[in-house]
Amino acid sequence: MQTKTLSLPRLNQLNPTLESTALKLMEEAGELAQCIGKYRGMSGEKVDMDHATAVSQIAYELLDVAQTAVTMMFVMEEQFSIDIESLLNEHWAKLERKGYLSR
Ligand SMILES: [Mg+2]
Repeated sequence: MQTKTLSLPRLNQLNPTLESTALKLMEEAGELAQCIGKYRGMSGEKVDMDHATAVSQIAYELLDVAQTAVTMMFVMEEQFSIDIESLLNEHWAKLERKGYLSR
């Protein structure tokens, strides 16, 4: 089975809250969608970006989503005493139970 491990920092120049990170996550998800939409010309606009540039822009936006998700995990741990590591085991079990992977 393939897995991907990311190492993303706890940002130390911000004072994130549950609400600010949730909002930021939606904002970044929106930027990702906008990027994909523009690349595909989904609103009928002329696509003037070359393929490689468009795809790397999409990937950068995806990393923004991941960074914001990680920031929100730090908020959950530090402000709400949530143990992400132990929830991760339940998450894996859920994926297996739903048939998305077999170990
Ligand atoms: Mg972004």
